Amino acid sequence: MIRENRIPVMEIFGPTIQGEGMVIGCKTVFIRTGGCDYSCAWCDSAFTWNGEEKAKMMTSRQVFEKLHKIGENNFNHVTISGGNPALIGEPLAELINLLHQKGIHVGLETQGTRFQEWFYQVDNLIISPKPPSSNMVTDFNKLDDIVEKLTKARTTFSLKVVVFDDTDFNFAKMVHLRYIKIPFYLSVGNPKPYTERSVALDLLKRLEWLFDKVIQDSEMNNVRPLPQLHTLVWGNKRKV
Ligand code: SF4
Repeated sequence: MIRENRIPVMEIFGPTIQGEGMVIGCKTVFIRTGGCDYSCAWCDSAFTWNGEEKAKMMTSRQVFEKLHKIGENNFNHVTISGGNPALIGEPLAELINLLHQKGIHVGLETQGTRFQEWFYQVDNLIISPKPPSSNMVTDFNKLDDIVEKLTKARTTFSLKVVVFDDTDFNFAKMVHLRYIKIPFYLSVGNPKPYTERSVALDLLKRLEWLFDKVIQDSEMNNVRPLPQLHTLVWGNKRKV
């Protein structure tokens, strides 16, 4: 259980460039929170939940100050990632308020297993249900509920699915068709998230395969397949 008035922080780093999804290319500082209700087979940040590393419990004010210490005046966007940041309640709402008061935009990514009222305050929210290759099973009743709430409130959000193979692609298509009005992104899966060798060539080949799949599929006319841009440039290095 996460302590009520603190944020479990695994790392804060940046400014860097967002490499995925609806704000790809955006300069941002990252906060990675600890704890996840999933355990995806290919998780590239398993240290956030598998006990290898310990989270630092910080108040929203402490996180806000740390962001400014490392980013100085060189950023106007913060990305909250995990783990699953949606496991955290009020302290994240407070942090988002503090950032907004300073004119800083906030992005957040979560797999869509939990809803939080503060989702409405996020400037660019990415809901990323996990495909079959993750070995996780999406609860579509819950996801329907989250998508409906965000749509009714006119929150800016998008869906993103990581694709490793045909089965994942079919899952992505099913999700896209279920929520046809929501902007939809595909992301190339990284099968070796912990190797120190360059994965760029492998990822580019996978991206070419994904481009072909989208190009040939008349039901995928409105989706955007993207690379993990940061991984092409920096490989699997952490904190970039
Ligand atoms: Fe890792 Fe994200 Fe899956 Fe959690 S939801 S296990 S952080 S990939």
